Amino acid sequence: MKNTSVKFIFITGGVVSSLGKGLASASLGALLQARGYIVKLRKLDPYLNVDPGTMSPYQHGECYVTDDGAETDLDLGHYERFTGVPAKKSDNITTGKIYSNVIANERRGDYLGATIQVIPHVTDAIKEYILSDINGEDFILCEIGGTVGDIESLPFIEAIRQLRNELGLSQTCFLHVTLLPYIKTAGELKTKPTQHSVKELQGMGIQPDILLCRTENVIPNEQKAKIALFCNLKSETVIEALDCSSIYEVPISYHLQGLDLQICKYFNLDLSQKPDLSRWNKINQIQNSSDGNVNIGIVGKYTSMIDAYKSLIEAINHGGLANNAKVKIKWIDSEELENENSDLTNIFKDINGVIVPGGFGERGSEGKINAINFVRINKIPFLGICFGMQMAVLEFARNVLNLKDASSSEFGVTTLPLVGLLTEWQSKSGLEKRNKDSDLGGTMRLGAYDCKLLEKSFVKSIYKKEIISERHRHRYEVNNKFILDFEKNGLIFSGMSPDNSLPEILEIPMHPWFVGVQFHPELKSKPFDPHPLFSSLIEASLKKSRLL
Ligand code: GLN
Repeated sequence: MKNTSVKFIFITGGVVSSLGKGLASASLGALLQARGYIVKLRKLDPYLNVDPGTMSPYQHGECYVTDDGAETDLDLGHYERFTGVPAKKSDNITTGKIYSNVIANERRGDYLGATIQVIPHVTDAIKEYILSDINGEDFILCEIGGTVGDIESLPFIEAIRQLRNELGLSQTCFLHVTLLPYIKTAGELKTKPTQHSVKELQGMGIQPDILLCRTENVIPNEQKAKIALFCNLKSETVIEALDCSSIYEVPISYHLQGLDLQICKYFNLDLSQKPDLSRWNKINQIQNSSDGNVNIGIVGKYTSMIDAYKSLIEAINHGGLANNAKVKIKWIDSEELENENSDLTNIFKDINGVIVPGGFGERGSEGKINAINFVRINKIPFLGICFGMQMAVLEFARNVLNLKDASSSEFGVTTLPLVGLLTEWQSKSGLEKRNKDSDLGGTMRLGAYDCKLLEKSFVKSIYKKEIISERHRHRYEVNNKFILDFEKNGLIFSGMSPDNSLPEILEIPMHPWFVGVQFHPELKSKPFDPHPLFSSLIEASLKKSRLL
């Protein structure tokens, strides 16, 4: 049966990319939640990859992983952090995914001899995705990736145009995010690019209902009126989206400009109830009043592309919020730690805590091992995430167990694979099997898995739970044959898969804070619910900073 109460908000972007459409969508989701509505956010990506899992982090930033094991666009991370609603596989679709389904249907003969075309077959498949897996939500916010005018996004724009026609005004709203550049020499905000991008949309049959205008300066009323006049809108639906100093100020800033009010007016919703923004006010109040300062070093290889560590950066900030502290991140390129003359004492001199995050491939790995050796010996708080945990295992094996050839099979053939290719494991859908020739896309150990914490361990005191669930994305795993050797020498595996076969967490009890995790805790941290590992790491680093 057709659901006639759910409302769709389609978010498009114009003028330039990197407008912060993802954050705008996430903030609008949070504002509608604050008004008591149930929301779901979705991202429609026009590129031809089936998912971003095989893309280089240099090109596409972080790959966000959902509980149900999808490798998705990093905007889904914003959606989850702002709304707390766990993202799902069905919340991110790409042209690649749509076309592979359409072509698979064609090969099966499902189209009964028809000529397969972008309209209607591809657009139908897009609409089907948009309308699928809706379970009682009041609003579905669908962000269209890319910029209006891109060739790739045409079928998506066409699909939402058709949906407006099919579902009507009362169930669909078009929100267009644009940019008003400030031209210094003229001393003015320019509206022309916005006018052009709206014209472009209108040419495709879409009249935006609300414009969200990104700007560095306040938009004078005359400029709003001018945009409204040229773009066929009322002035109050031209909303100013001023740059904010923190992303967590965005919901309140957009609220003050009337974004959620205009959406509610558009859909004729009850306006008597004021939104409950206490959660966001509290976060901003902590941010503005934090008095501690702490420096966290991130030793990685994508340090020139910080979008590759989006969730990590946010989780660290959440750890700061939990401790009323401002966290400064210092980026350390792991390759710079590989040189024999690298002066680690100097590089780490004002660092209070270190994270070696996830990563792939051998390049930079020796530098990460050197960093871990330094923090282990110098008792600097350390969190190793996924690849970071695997490198902590190699460091300890080489320097404490004296297994000098300890390596990972990710780096090529080795006689001592302390970290090896995961060929079999139990997932919720049964036994998973892989070998070295498996496809690269979508074949890692992905999504949420339970982990059992050791009684009386340090991590158990942090999580205050026996069984935790965390998200994974890796192909290699710590070799469990060496567990006893590690434990005899002071490194224990305090978290294991429920069947005891996979080491998931390590810790060094004699170190003030040394933890390695095979999963990605950063993916589940929220500003209003900081992840316990990050809160605890920042607390320990703050203590360290006070000792320096
Ligand atoms: N490259 C490692 C693996 O595949 C670690 C992956 C990661 O850090 N996410 O196991």
